[in-house]
Amino acid sequence: MRPIQMVDLKTQYQHIKAEVDKAVIEVMESAAFINGKPVHDFAAALGRYLDVKHVIPCANGTDALQIAMMALDLQPGDEVIAPSFTFIATTEVAALLKLKPVFVEVDAQTFCIDTDALKKAITPKTKLIVPVHLYGQASNMEVIMQIAAEHNIYVLEDNAQAIGCDYRFSDGTVRKAGTIGHIGSTSFFPSKNLGGYGDGGAVFTNDDMLADKMRKIANHGQGKRYYHDLVGCNSRLDTIQAAVLNIKLPLLDQYIAARQKAADFYNNAFKNVKGITTPYVAAYSNHVYHQYTLVLEGIDRDGLNQYLAEKGIPSMLYYPVPGHRQEMFASFGLSQYELPVTDWLTQRVISLPMHTELDQQQLEFITTSVLEFVNK
Ligand SMILES: *Cc1c(COP(=O)(O)O)cnc(C)c1O
Repeated sequence: MRPIQMVDLKTQYQHIKAEVDKAVIEVMESAAFINGKPVHDFAAALGRYLDVKHVIPCANGTDALQIAMMALDLQPGDEVIAPSFTFIATTEVAALLKLKPVFVEVDAQTFCIDTDALKKAITPKTKLIVPVHLYGQASNMEVIMQIAAEHNIYVLEDNAQAIGCDYRFSDGTVRKAGTIGHIGSTSFFPSKNLGGYGDGGAVFTNDDMLADKMRKIANHGQGKRYYHDLVGCNSRLDTIQAAVLNIKLPLLDQYIAARQKAADFYNNAFKNVKGITTPYVAAYSNHVYHQYTLVLEGIDRDGLNQYLAEKGIPSMLYYPVPGHRQEMFASFGLSQYELPVTDWLTQRVISLPMHTELDQQQLEFITTSVLEFVNK
């Protein structure tokens, strides 16, 4: 049996090695390392895949969030609502820009922002909502967009974990996660569902003005070379990364299907097991399983993590400390927060290996080992 990893990028590379190597060597031969043709080709191809008007590539998913927030004319102290149960980048960027992160609860089943909690958190200072499509399932975007419209608030979808995910509106319309809010952001970090071989990211929007502004912000605020209209940053997707992503984008749906197949195997093995809750998939979204995350009740989570490790099976706790308990936000009055669902999940979630290369033998070994521990 091949060693089990959380993400097996080596095996995945072996399947696409010939194409990737050729594309990367072409970049080196062209010496167009910055803003080469593959960058433009990739932005156009991703735009077609997502059915969104503008894709602006940048250096990573954290920059993507920053570029998006910089484009929205927010003032210091403006409030940015985001779930507490997410990767730190979402709210870190808000604090960096002198905005005030406001942490809200997530739904216990979907792990995404709780829309009732969201409504209650809105104040006259709220200017932005950042739903995070956690683990690969879209947040309840129809409701979020209604709330945002009522209060005239921007929505930035943090789509780093859910690229390719489909959101279904109540009228049956289907749109890609990340293209429903005013702006969507994503990451091409190697382990993401569409990962490069280094850092990368992008923002997308259907709004021409926001697109123009974000394009400038990512490039030192310049429209015309050496004429700087606004303060920006330097955030680019490498041509080499774009060349890799151009090979991987056409495979994304196939990669998602492989993840869903592994998830089905897990779901089957764990259904009706007392104390294990398998991922819930809401009617309005499909799931692209960036992570496969169980909730354990009455099972020693850290003990299971340890037991699996001893058998050579990695498992991860995403995320052990929620935003509203992070030291970096100490100046934002964290003691005011009571987020019982977030705290509850933090104690009980465990993510199993999830990637495109899991085979039957590995999946059987993982599930058997989990059940061994549970039935001990
Ligand atoms: C990975 C991730 C990011 C940041 O992406 P980087 O490319 O690592 O900067 C932001 N938000 C979420 C939810 C993520 O999972």
